Amino acid sequence: MEERKRFEKGRKEKGYYGYLRERYKELIDKKEREEYTPGFKGMAGFPEYEFVDGHDFNSFLDYHGETKGRTLFDYRKQAYSCLICRVCNFVTCYRQTSARFNLICPSGDRFRYDNYFGQGKFQMIRGLIDGDLSQHYPPAEPLKPIFEPTERFLHTVYTCTVCGGCESQCKIQKLLEPMHAVKALREWLVESGMGPLPEHQALFKNMANYDNPWGGARAARTKWLPKKIKVKELGKGKENAPVLYYVGCTAAYVQPIQYVATATILNLQAAGVDFGILGRSELCCGSTMLRIGDRKGFEKYRDRNLEILNNLGLETIVTSCAGCISTLKEEYADQLNCEVLHIVEYLERLISQGKIKPKNKLNMNITYHDPCHLGRYCGIYDPPRNILASIPGVKLIEMERIREDSYCCAAGGGVRTAYPEFATWAANRRLTEARETTGCEIVVTACPFCEENLTDAARPLEMKVIDINQLLWDSLK
Ligand code: SF4
Ligand code: SF4
Repeated sequence: MEERKRFEKGRKEKGYYGYLRERYKELIDKKEREEYTPGFKGMAGFPEYEFVDGHDFNSFLDYHGETKGRTLFDYRKQAYSCLICRVCNFVTCYRQTSARFNLICPSGDRFRYDNYFGQGKFQMIRGLIDGDLSQHYPPAEPLKPIFEPTERFLHTVYTCTVCGGCESQCKIQKLLEPMHAVKALREWLVESGMGPLPEHQALFKNMANYDNPWGGARAARTKWLPKKIKVKELGKGKENAPVLYYVGCTAAYVQPIQYVATATILNLQAAGVDFGILGRSELCCGSTMLRIGDRKGFEKYRDRNLEILNNLGLETIVTSCAGCISTLKEEYADQLNCEVLHIVEYLERLISQGKIKPKNKLNMNITYHDPCHLGRYCGIYDPPRNILASIPGVKLIEMERIREDSYCCAAGGGVRTAYPEFATWAANRRLTEARETTGCEIVVTACPFCEENLTDAARPLEMKVIDINQLLWDSLK
């Protein structure tokens, strides 16, 4: 119980993984292992356990260090430590409330075969590293395909939405990182010329030609901005402001989602925030390339963006996109000279400071879908809920799978691009859960990409998906 309380407190202060990293280190440093699990021996993570290659608990801690820069081969120990216990397939057991909605992995849920779940990914990695590939390691330069990936193999790798559902379960219990292993596997496939999929090629072409995955012209990047609304444009020789609203490609280019960007700037203006946008000079953050496995391609975007962003004299960057925020926090933040927040964090701050006060009563029952990149990736669960609680007449009814146990809508990780039918299937599952477990017809979210995918599935179900910015603006205007 004490440990549980400590976990909840630590999670709030340091984030989910931040707390775990620190706690495991503490257990080693203070030699509290016996107290933590008295008399328990023989489990992965304890010195008595014989790891493959003789790794001990201290080397096990490496798993909780910096994931950047790791290659597929760095996951060998983890692949051997997977117990095939299937904990990663399900919502945390003591939080399960039904068998109907207890799976957490959308690709496993859809394709019902081991390789689609976390444990299957580790089995494949083990086979790859110690099977055909070990005699080829380190790979020869230039990298050449050294095995012919089958269609089924690529399907299992690229139907993973890198949602982190498996990892949120395994990391706290078995200390492994199946999602990061999949990312490393994809990076290795791309490096070796075996990935991504032909379906992803259009996206890469769009990035090369237009600096966004949608293929929208650079000149059309601000088309979402209503003519009557004036917003500062930041950049070289242009205007200045302490806050940048980084719009992101989906809200900028996907017509039915553009209202998210409009609602965001209306909320910022209502709070009197001195902010601007980058306008036509905004580039994609590179999130899609990163998730598909093209790290080198991503790094080019990151470096170009860092140069632009660090020269603006900013105090804060806010974005309304979950994909952008996870990329900015995970891959940019340590090289940025300002804070980076998702708009829900910023709006929650503005509400608590009394700078905006929702006043119009909306009278609606809603449920909230945690976007994986906002929730599991960044640990942002409370701010959207606090915003919803501040809106008069809005009643939040929670689904069965929420927060760390949230069920991915399957838009991300390049899945919607390559397997749109599967993405719609998973979104349908999520909306079915919303309707059946809450009775709500309205699902609120805080990610344009989730919204686009969920909306496609919502139409035939006659349900509605709304961005949280719009709901707040409805209560302010
Ligand atoms: S990845 Fe982790 S939770 Fe999943 S089967 Fe392996 S040890 Fe168990
Ligand atoms: S990251 Fe998500 S989709 Fe991929 S294996 Fe884990 S739970 Fe399944």
